[in-house]
Amino acid sequence: MASARNYSTYLPLLLVTIASASLLSSYFNIGQKLPSLVSTTTIKQNSSSTADVLVIGAGPAGLSAALTLYRHQHDIVIFDHGTPRNIWDTPTHVFPSWEGKSVRGFCEESKKELWKTGFVKFVEREVRTLEQKNDELFFVGLSDGTKWAGRKLLLAMGVQFVLPDIPGYAENFPTRIFHCLFTFGFEHRGSSSAGILAMGHAASPMHANILVGDARKFAETITVYTNGDGDLADAIKNVKTSNETMFDTRRIRRMIKRSSGVILEFEDGEMKEEQFLVHQPSTKVNPAIVKQLGLQLNERGDLVIKMPFYQTNVPGVFAAGDCASPFKLIANAVLMGTNAGAGIARELPISVTRNSINRAG
Ligand SMILES: Cc1cc2nc3c(=O)[nH]c(=O)nc-3n(C[C@H](O)[C@H](O)[C@H](O)COP(=O)(O)OP(=O)(O)OC[C@H]3O[C@@H](n4cnc5c(N)ncnc54)[C@H](O)[C@@H]3O)c2cc1C
Repeated sequence: MASARNYSTYLPLLLVTIASASLLSSYFNIGQKLPSLVSTTTIKQNSSSTADVLVIGAGPAGLSAALTLYRHQHDIVIFDHGTPRNIWDTPTHVFPSWEGKSVRGFCEESKKELWKTGFVKFVEREVRTLEQKNDELFFVGLSDGTKWAGRKLLLAMGVQFVLPDIPGYAENFPTRIFHCLFTFGFEHRGSSSAGILAMGHAASPMHANILVGDARKFAETITVYTNGDGDLADAIKNVKTSNETMFDTRRIRRMIKRSSGVILEFEDGEMKEEQFLVHQPSTKVNPAIVKQLGLQLNERGDLVIKMPFYQTNVPGVFAAGDCASPFKLIANAVLMGTNAGAGIARELPISVTRNSINRAG
């Protein structure tokens, strides 16, 4: 398993998420509304309605897995309660054919395709409980009290952000605090100044220097803020290649959003404005689900999976996308969902499902 330090080489391209209840209601209203896909039926154990695969999450990972699974004629139920990692729906970049477009729109298009196959059912509810009867029977309990049974489980539920406890941080993320300059840098090229928050994942000399190098392409002056950690500032100085980088070790009291940028207020009362800040907040996988299934996490807090099909440490449970990778990108979620779908399909022979009867197409 790679260490956190090894991963940090790729961190500029890592992308991360937060839930924001105010935007949830619009999540399923983009484009044409699908017919009612919400079932209130409770599926009984060992009944003919036991699904082949239960998928938690209708983001790029879960949808890609379903697109693979239906090709092997498997029944899939996808649960989603509308809190994708990019809840702000900022324009998509670094994903072919979708430059500048909405990731929600991408997911809606995918749902329509899947719905037409006749093999996929969408349930717009939160998964609250997960139980395992044996390696081949799982139960999903929803917020409306219904319970669903399935032979395999795919966790494609993304991650939750853990934002630093600095007043004003949340208000500035991701409009003024950018977690990735491949996603946000280009639109802010030519900025006069930018700051690197060397905290959390970026509180390492190597990672902070990578971010300085990235930011230098988009802003004239760069300041590294270590939020009270003088030793870290010295360590970063020791490996940095440019003398032009400035350092500020004062504790940050709060951040204030401005149309021109973000103001940092320090503990001594002084203020400084930057046009943008760069920082990757930490993330976590839904702790209740991790506990209920006894899943293993790695040092970054992502699910531990086995190559090549991303089975977790629990037999019959697979994971794909942001919840199981340091590469938190749409393209990676699509790849992982596709591979996990193939791995799950190969554990489900057609004789188990007899799903080719009465299908669309
Ligand atoms: C601000 C921002 C901008 C980004 N920009 C880009 C970009 O330009 N290009 C790019 O490639 N990547 C970008 N990303 C990253 C990209 O959004 C993710 O990598 C990608 O969405 C991961 O897909 P996923 O399917 O793993 O997870 P998600 O897209 O997060 O989907 C997970 C789904 O699971 C559902 N879910 C979670 N828990 C439950 C539960 N208990 N019950 C029911 N449903 C549940 C959620 O509602 C959600 O819809 C960005 C991220 C952020 C935060």
